[in-house]
Amino acid sequence: MIGEIICVGNEILIGDTLNTNTRYLSKSMTTLGIEVAYQVVVGDHEERLLEAIETARRRSDVIVFTGGLGPTYDDMTKETVAKALEMTMVLDEEALDDIRRFFELRKRTMADANRKQAYRPSGGRILKNENGTAPGIYIKNEETHYILLPGPPRELMPMFENEVTPILEVLSSDVITSRIFQLSGIGESDLAEIIGHIMDVSDNPRIAPYAKLGSVNIRVTAITKTKEEGKKQIEDTTALLMPYLEPYCYSYDNKSLEEVVVQMIIEKNHSIAIAESCTGGLLSSRIINVPGVSRIYKNGFVTYSNGSKETWLNVPHALILKEGAVSEAVAIAMAEGVAKVSDASIGVGISGIAGPDGGTPEKPVGMVCMGFTINGKSIGTTFHFNGNRKKIRDYSVWYALTTLYSLLRA
Ligand code: ATP
Repeated sequence: MIGEIICVGNEILIGDTLNTNTRYLSKSMTTLGIEVAYQVVVGDHEERLLEAIETARRRSDVIVFTGGLGPTYDDMTKETVAKALEMTMVLDEEALDDIRRFFELRKRTMADANRKQAYRPSGGRILKNENGTAPGIYIKNEETHYILLPGPPRELMPMFENEVTPILEVLSSDVITSRIFQLSGIGESDLAEIIGHIMDVSDNPRIAPYAKLGSVNIRVTAITKTKEEGKKQIEDTTALLMPYLEPYCYSYDNKSLEEVVVQMIIEKNHSIAIAESCTGGLLSSRIINVPGVSRIYKNGFVTYSNGSKETWLNVPHALILKEGAVSEAVAIAMAEGVAKVSDASIGVGISGIAGPDGGTPEKPVGMVCMGFTINGKSIGTTFHFNGNRKKIRDYSVWYALTTLYSLLRA
């Protein structure tokens, strides 16, 4: 399989943007058994891009484009690929829904121009973009694979790991074996510091970290001639990485964090009850997604108003008046209250300001207090999250789960 990378954008040609995407894509494609033979940079210029596509399709099997998927008139990658392949542009309703949702969640009005991003060449399919509005596109035309990715690295890299790697893995005649290490409690830069020395010397297996909401994962991919060799390489790399990752890695066998937490609660003979304010039941919902949870899940309350915290959880009225509903003291009282009324050994309380209104200088939007009690021993913790209402609520659930995980591990 011969691979070619085409970066589209004047800003790369004139030297304004350092072409880091090519380096990332070359490394990633090589690890997936694709021989990258050409790297091309072309400006936002239809004729020149058409020429680049024509050349690439004559000599390469996999052509990966980056950039030029934005909403403005000079973003023309999709349209030009469609023209070269004699396809029409069609509106993809699902992509349009995703883009609409992206704006709704951020309480922003979707410009008409963003509709353009929901169009795809008639023979292509959409690759989801979890970090922006420009979906990617995958087209198989005759024997050539065309993969169109957005320019911003923070959109391109997760899309490559989640959507493109599974497509490319099956193209290679070599055996591809991979394992994903799911981590909590560590950011990308700290991770680079602790395992950078292993990542730098290992091209095969490739060790690629990629960011997810509130966390970072690592994909290790081995390319070998036999299945056994692949398995061995993955096991060897796991043995190499785990001494560094052990405090953060909750799973490398595709288990979600909630599955791991529920398993730990079962193994430790605990039971859990949850009281939520700003997350409105999201944490309970995540935990209840796990099959078998009925053995340990006692109760879930959505106690949004002060009155409901007092009535259902016995949070003292005076405490709310003194500390405010969003405070560690109240979150702990919620946790202790819900554990008591539910006869559970673990209680969780979450109270925060998800916005967009309701923030003050002392308690800004994004401040979320959590209380945890395990067998009568309680702790409180306060987080400050950025983002819109949905993001703040999602972060809250993620960090509640990671805190539960570390408390249960202790
Ligand atoms: P968007 O819709 O987000 O604008 P796009 O697919 O249209 O995405 P471009 O407009 O081409 O992408 O580029 C957006 C930004 O992405 C650039 O300003 C630059 O910061 C970054 N970028 C683009 N190409 C590359 C590259 N090859 N390497 C690194 N960064 C890049």
